[in-house]
Amino acid sequence: MARTASPSLEVRDVRNGRGLVALRRFERGQRVCVLRGRLVHFDRLWSWWDRDPRRAANCIRFDADRYLDPEGELGAFANHSCRPNTMLVRAGRVLDVRAMRVIRPGDEVTHDYSTCLGADDTWSMRCNCGEPACRGRVRRFDRLPADVLQRYMRLGAIPAAILATANNT
Ligand SMILES: [Zn+2]
Repeated sequence: MARTASPSLEVRDVRNGRGLVALRRFERGQRVCVLRGRLVHFDRLWSWWDRDPRRAANCIRFDADRYLDPEGELGAFANHSCRPNTMLVRAGRVLDVRAMRVIRPGDEVTHDYSTCLGADDTWSMRCNCGEPACRGRVRRFDRLPADVLQRYMRLGAIPAAILATANNT
């Protein structure tokens, strides 16, 4: 059974289905929640695409050949946005969901899924985030518009393991 609330976050109906909503203010740089998950090898994840595509799509690239499966965690409900207010930062074997700017009570907590799609990841998704600068499609990080990519690099919003995938293709 998935947790759907904590003192600072709650799962609610949002623009695109269910999403994670802040119940309090978070300052820039502050940790909003942690994605602990279970690490799943690429081969295993591949076999999930037939059985449970929703769960497979929710898995987050962790390193060269492992993905983090956040099933059952509050942070798993964080949707994509082309103008996100959090980024994922690897901390040991978990991912911190960290505020990129001030988040106010009632704001939906989002991150940019492209920051965790390696150059060798083929998955993509149509985007309906509603931001004026919506890219229309979520793809691998190295296909981000140059200005967005530069900004994310400056902020450290693209994990080193994701950046490293660009050297293997
Ligand atoms: Zn978008």
